[in-house]
Parts: sequence; structure tokens; C-alpha cells
Amino acid sequence: MTGQRSWGYGRDDGPSEWHKSYPIAQGNRQSPIDIVSARAVYDPNLKPLIISYESCTSLSISNNGHSVMVEFEDTDDKTAISGGPFENPFRLKQFHFHWGTKHDQGSEHTIDGKPFPCELHLVHWNARKYATFGEAAAAPDGLAVVGVFLEIGREHANMNRLTDALYMVKFKGTKAQFRSFNPKCLLPLSLDYWTYLGSLTTPPLNESVTWIVLKEPIRISEKQLEKFRMLLFTSEEDQRIQMVNNFRPPQPLKGRVVRASFKA
Ligand SMILES: [Zn+2]
Repeated sequence: MTGQRSWGYGRDDGPSEWHKSYPIAQGNRQSPIDIVSARAVYDPNLKPLIISYESCTSLSISNNGHSVMVEFEDTDDKTAISGGPFENPFRLKQFHFHWGTKHDQGSEHTIDGKPFPCELHLVHWNARKYATFGEAAAAPDGLAVVGVFLEIGREHANMNRLTDALYMVKFKGTKAQFRSFNPKCLLPLSLDYWTYLGSLTTPPLNESVTWIVLKEPIRISEKQLEKFRMLLFTSEEDQRIQMVNNFRPPQPLKGRVVRASFKA
């Protein structure tokens, strides 16, 4: 693996180039995908998703040059998801976002061909089966990512704490303390979901993710989304490049079935 190769979202290093350094980009269970709602199969055996974030401990917010990420303490199962298609609880490791320049693009998953302006990813790992996040990220059943769509609407009061912290991590490679933020406040009311087997949507694109894509979007204001667009892909000493369109487009389904926890 060439895990240290640089990649991005530009013309020369963007998603269409990733397969040169990461051949798995053309694999059989890549993400994101377009979810064709009429082709999703309702599975009455899928359990409700249980999101237990009550005593969660956020640590930091950072700009990794690809997105803005909030990381959590993950030394126990205090903050985990279970139920759904899972046998074990999966521990929350971090969350981050993907967004566009305009409202008509930004999300990674699309629904019936339609993108959303932004998508939140809550990344969890299977700590019952694997010793470290890295080990889990290399295993076919190692990770569980919950995807939440964001659309433009009224201001999201709970999002302000996060959007107000973004100025601290404007440049690539910057990090700030960000304690006691509970991402439960970012979830929609309904936990109805689609699920399918996929991958990380950024290099190394490991095919290790069970995806849970929530049907109900959350809303944030235009002004709040604008604050994400103020972030930069670049370090303080580099020529500034605005962090926007940090999404990978939908990948071929290759025979996979998307299951729905709800009746259409
Ligand atoms: Zn993501």
C-alpha cells in the first residue's frame, strides 16, 4: 500500500486519479453510491439502530487538509452504536463532513440521483473484534459509518458550537481543543436507514465499512454552511485553496443490495 501518497479533490489529484495509487478504488464494494429508493429492499429483520452517545467525550477539532474532523476518546464502549445490522457495538472514533460550493452538490451519497449540500459521517469501529482502529479499518467488518444528509433551512442551534469553532482550524494541519460536544444533537428525529456494504470514501478506500445512511436529513442555515466553505485545503504558508467540493462521486453498485429498515 502507498498510504502516504498525497491525494485531494483537485483536477490532478481528485477522485478520478485515486485508483493509480489505490487500485481498490475500482473494487467491488466502493462508496459512496447512489441509493435508488425503489430498488432498496425492505428487510423486516433489520433491528432499529441504537445510538448511545450519552456520555460521549469529544477531544479535539482539526483540519486534516481534506475535511474538518472532531475526534473522540474511544477507550471504552461509552459512545457506541448497536442494533441495526450489527452483532457488536461499534465505538465512535470521529465525525467529519463533506460539502460543496453550492446547494446542488456536496454530499457523497445521493438519493435517486439527487445530491444534498452536505453530508455528515460518524465513524465507528468494531472494538469487540479488533484491537485498534487501524486493525478494524483493514477488516471487512471493522467499521460502521453513519451518514446524515444536511439540507439548507433554518439555523441549527446545536450546530453553532461547531461552526463557531471552525475559525480555529482554518488551515490544513491545525487542531484545537473541542470538549464535551455530543453529536447526538446533530441526528434527525427518525433513525430510519438504508444499509449496504461499502468502503471508506477517501484513500486508502478500504472496503471495511458497513454503511448506515439515514433517510431523514437535518437542516442548517446558509450562513452556517458558509462557515464550512471558509476552511482551506492548504497550510498557512501555501497559496490558499478554499475547502469545497471535498466529496467523492457515487461508485458502481456492482450487484450489491441496499436494504431499508423501513417500508417505502
Ligand atoms: Zn466521510
